[in-house]
Amino acid sequence: MRKILIVGAGQSGLQLALGLQQHGYEVTLMSNRTADEIRAGRVMSTQCMFHTALQHERDLQLNFWESQAPRIEGLGVSVAAPDSSRAVDWVGKLDGYAQSVDQRLKMAGWLETFAQRGGQVVVHGAAVSDLDYFSRTYDLVLVSAGKGELVSMFERDASRSPYDTPQRALAVAYVHGLGPRPEHPEFDAVRCNLVPGVGEMFIMPTVTLSGRADILFWEGVPGGPLDAFQGVKDPNEHLALTLELMEKYLPWEYARATRVELTDAGGTLEGRYAPTVRKPVGRLPSGGLVLGVADVVVANDPITGQGSNSASKCAAAYLASILERGDKPFDEEWMQSAFDRYWETAQHVTKWTNAMLAPPPEHVLNIIGAAGGLQPVADRFANGFNDPADFENFFYDPAKAEAYLAEVTQG
Ligand SMILES: Cc1cc2nc3c(=O)[nH]c(=O)nc-3n(C[C@H](O)[C@H](O)[C@H](O)COP(=O)(O)OP(=O)(O)OC[C@H]3O[C@@H](n4cnc5c(N)ncnc54)[C@H](O)[C@@H]3O)c2cc1C
Repeated sequence: MRKILIVGAGQSGLQLALGLQQHGYEVTLMSNRTADEIRAGRVMSTQCMFHTALQHERDLQLNFWESQAPRIEGLGVSVAAPDSSRAVDWVGKLDGYAQSVDQRLKMAGWLETFAQRGGQVVVHGAAVSDLDYFSRTYDLVLVSAGKGELVSMFERDASRSPYDTPQRALAVAYVHGLGPRPEHPEFDAVRCNLVPGVGEMFIMPTVTLSGRADILFWEGVPGGPLDAFQGVKDPNEHLALTLELMEKYLPWEYARATRVELTDAGGTLEGRYAPTVRKPVGRLPSGGLVLGVADVVVANDPITGQGSNSASKCAAAYLASILERGDKPFDEEWMQSAFDRYWETAQHVTKWTNAMLAPPPEHVLNIIGAAGGLQPVADRFANGFNDPADFENFFYDPAKAEAYLAEVTQG
């Protein structure tokens, strides 16, 4: 059977490893942490995943936490006015529910499952020299190490990367005790709160190590008032700052957060990175080739909550390409074609995410504003998180946006 090495045990690497394993491939997974270390570590994401990405997990029977994770049935948008009231406030309904499973829970569980099913796990932070050695003994080496140092093997694709610096400062806190949104206490939703010129806050339910929780996630424009978490080491101080900024900029969200407490000492995260698309094939010093997966090759800012979704879609696309390849060599041409297949979907995510990082043009403000009075517009925007390709049809081009709003208004 064909031997495959996967470096990095995150959403894409584990999903692909477990998928290949089910098809009888001999898979080795290199992880820089054990399952226990992942579980005991810091949160890594907010990892809200929408229907299509969740379905890829279901197809492989990897949806172990589906019954425990809250069902996210809507996606809401609020826009703060200068006086901190709400200029816009609506919620769209998702056609299929979304879910967030703390990656500490999921990756640790998947890693253990992979090993229990006979997969080989090597606990080691791989360096380029390791890959150079291993590439000679495996039919294919996949690098799914996220935004870590191994990305340096893959050339930045400037034509697909409009930004070369981070566009947001990220600050996450996992909490227990958040109240429901009074506007829709009967169902859960991701709540996107936009503070023009300052940043955004995303609030979403999740399942973590201690059960149901909610995530408070600030995205601050660098250098602005939300870019205040760097150097805050104490998790309780991080939470206090999160709440202080909520009280100032989003009093309606603060009102339901007055009794929250952190889920655990690892329940906070801060950082930033430049959104970057890379060339998919990495060349090792001795000439061997490796294929980049998910964040390694397409890392978008989390403002649109797409990275885990994309990682799932990338793993599903690569799995199909590997299976279709049969016994033929995994050469450079094949690697490029596997990536091109993934880029068919990923290009829409990148375009939309990069657009959302920029100040919104007037026609986009019109769509977001109109969704408050036109439920079909709210629903369509919400379902775009599942399939960002749909934004091509009504979001970027002012004429298309206008035509769409006219069509819905006329009903
Ligand atoms: C604050 C924040 C919020 C987010 N919110 C969302 C969201 O709501 N929805 C969404 O879809 N996405 C979200 N994302 C993005 C999402 O988490 C990532 O895009 C996704 O996890 C990427 O999957 P991956 O498999 O490429 O990499 P990862 O999940 O990052 O996995 C990479 C793994 O490789 C390991 N590794 C790194 N270097 C090495 C090495 N040298 N050797 C061995 N192992 C190595 C890492 O430790 C890690 O375990 C968010 C990200 C952040 C930072």
